[in-house]
Amino acid sequence: MPRTTFLSYFQPSIGEDEINEVIDTLKSGWVTTGEKSHIFERNFADYLGVDCALALNSCTAALHLALLLLNIKPGDEVITTPFTFVATSNVIEYLHARPVFVDIERDTLNIDPNKIEEKITNKTKAILIVHYGGHACEMNAIMDIANKYSIPVVEDAAHGMGGSYHNKKLGRFGTFSAFSFYANKNITTIEGGMLIGNKELINKARIMSLHGIDRDAWKRYRQDGSWFYEVIYPGLKYNMTDVSASIGLHQLKKINSLQGKRSRIANSYNAAFKNNPFLEVPCQKSKIDHAWFNYPLRLNLERLKISKAEFINELTKLNIGTSVHFIPVHLHPYYKNKYGYVPNDFPVAYKEYQRVLSIPLYPAMLDSDVEDVIESICLILNKVGEK
Ligand SMILES: *Cc1c(COP(=O)(O)O)cnc(C)c1O
Repeated sequence: MPRTTFLSYFQPSIGEDEINEVIDTLKSGWVTTGEKSHIFERNFADYLGVDCALALNSCTAALHLALLLLNIKPGDEVITTPFTFVATSNVIEYLHARPVFVDIERDTLNIDPNKIEEKITNKTKAILIVHYGGHACEMNAIMDIANKYSIPVVEDAAHGMGGSYHNKKLGRFGTFSAFSFYANKNITTIEGGMLIGNKELINKARIMSLHGIDRDAWKRYRQDGSWFYEVIYPGLKYNMTDVSASIGLHQLKKINSLQGKRSRIANSYNAAFKNNPFLEVPCQKSKIDHAWFNYPLRLNLERLKISKAEFINELTKLNIGTSVHFIPVHLHPYYKNKYGYVPNDFPVAYKEYQRVLSIPLYPAMLDSDVEDVIESICLILNKVGEK
């Protein structure tokens, strides 16, 4: 029996604790960056096992600040993956540098370490990696290359919250790493992000994130504060509000139970689909804790009578929401026109894009929702699969 109500691709898990904390903040007389943002930073750094963290209004902001502090200049090159959300390469464009794409591994959909070295030139100033879907990149190989050429690594860990590589949490490898708390990420502040780096770099980033002013506003307005401040750089306006931090504080407390639910759902899908000849389930290499930001299911198109787009339409008709992660960056008009890309410039990214879709995976799903997704997919495949 198909569902009678639409199962949305994603819904955040925001509970009474988050709501009450927001109300407390709204009534407190201090609503923007202040004590709660700082506690959230502290707790996040403790969770990750790092010295310091900077709460920001997005992961995009965190990535932009990271590249700015690495002194990326016009004409510099930053190596990255085309199989990502455009924010990853847009921040390179912000600085008038050039994103140099490296094709992905077929199994994990992460940047292929074997193809990085051939793209390094004397203009390469950073390697910006993405842990696609929450599966770690091949960090040993990537750090070896980075160290060999003394090129800093930045981790776009927007999907990486809760994931690890060889027992080390994602976000602990790069000179900088950036997390996202956008509404559909593993934990949310509605909009928000976190930048991780060493103390000196984070202190500089903090100044850059707030107009280039050398002190926090909240310190100035407290009784013991001073009215005096100096601008040392035309900085950005990237700070996180205490209203957002109020949500993040409680989301962070729930991280283990939220991640547990994600991996249980992923296991149910794996069990249901792994022997299906029309499907390929996501890979999970050994010594990897998967963060399961999404569940990228791949269609074996050569055995199907329909395309991915048609498959998605069929699922929509059965009231199942889906998404696609991602339309490769080099296919977007801005990048295609500026750099003259053709789809097969990154053949693995292009080929996998044509067969990948993300199916619902979030802690608020009921067991019956998971069953509905599985049944609907099997129902469609029974009709369109060629034996
Ligand atoms: C969501 C996402 C971002 C951007 O996060 P924001 O917090 O919305 O700026 C960056 N990179 C990847 C891979 C993402 O999925």
